[in-house]
Amino acid sequence: MLKPALFLDRDGVVIDYIPYLSKPEQIKIPDGAGEALKQWQDAGYRLILITNQSGVERGYFTLNELEAVHRRIINEYQKFGVDFHDILTCPHHPSKGCQCRKPSPYLILEASKKYRISIYQSFLIGDSASDLECAIRSGCQPVLLLTGRGKYTVQQIDNYPVKIPVYNKLSQTVELLSKIRTEVES
Ligand SMILES: [Mg+2]
Ligand SMILES: [Zn+2]
Repeated sequence: MLKPALFLDRDGVVIDYIPYLSKPEQIKIPDGAGEALKQWQDAGYRLILITNQSGVERGYFTLNELEAVHRRIINEYQKFGVDFHDILTCPHHPSKGCQCRKPSPYLILEASKKYRISIYQSFLIGDSASDLECAIRSGCQPVLLLTGRGKYTVQQIDNYPVKIPVYNKLSQTVELLSKIRTEVES
């Protein structure tokens, strides 16, 4: 049986946006985010982070420091009973033309094969244009948050070929779950 996933961007989505955040102490979980991700998880969604971290190749922080940040994120969310299925990172510089950096759908497609995910039942919640484009190219449903860079991204939302739900914050995205249930029931 294929399972749906909730793909999540990291900065500006599961943690408050700080450019090139490099230390665990800088991490702040948005209000209501833990409770919201628990609801997605309980609804049967695998939670998978997909994050561009070019700060590694730019020399702003090391892979070890990145690991420490991710451990803190995992620990903070575990307090809410939330378990991330995986955290997939592109550490490359944008100029390298790697295959994994969003808006490339590569990491979503790889995760979907590895974890038997039904992409078109899945969502990607992000705050940047690269998140929306990655979702569209992979075939899952993009969702835009107005946190982080979302207030700029929303200005371009009419350029996309699909309708994109917009929310002020992560906690409000659980509304999508009730919509899915209603569709299944009707
Ligand atoms: Mg982001
Ligand atoms: Zn990459």
